[in-house]
Amino acid sequence: MAYDPILWRVRLCHHGSSCSHHNCGFAHNLSDLRPPNESQRLYDRTGQTGVDRWYGQHLTDDQLDTIQSYYQRTPERFLPAWSRALRYCISGKHDVKERHQSWDYGLSMDLELLCLHRKSRLPFRFHEQTWERLEVRKQMFREEHIKEVRQDMDLEWSVNNMQRL
Ligand SMILES: [Zn+2]
Repeated sequence: MAYDPILWRVRLCHHGSSCSHHNCGFAHNLSDLRPPNESQRLYDRTGQTGVDRWYGQHLTDDQLDTIQSYYQRTPERFLPAWSRALRYCISGKHDVKERHQSWDYGLSMDLELLCLHRKSRLPFRFHEQTWERLEVRKQMFREEHIKEVRQDMDLEWSVNNMQRL
């Protein structure tokens, strides 16, 4: 299928990983997804742009359905951080298995890099809950950290006192 090179792997293929189209321009894995390639010309469609790689932007129901069906079929260790971030931002539920992921799942850096390389203006309208939910996660991590530091200090204090006895 002939495909606009600017939109190469910008969206997920509806045929899934079994797609048999020669040179299919869609992505067949969540980690294959790319932002629009603006090296030749601008990709100026802002708003609901049809970019499936998630940078915190608003997604249509159709996009969410497709991403979700890929998410469910992807083995845990192959899930890109942004897809975990999306799951978290939609559900608002913390997953203990994701504790090693940074508070924003690297989304701020992803977005910064995207904006650096894009020639058009800021690409997306944000999903309302994105940064709000990530801030909740940041706060939760901060509180955990403070608790851990306090526990360490308590332990150190009691060890020091034991030595003095
Ligand atoms: Zn395909």
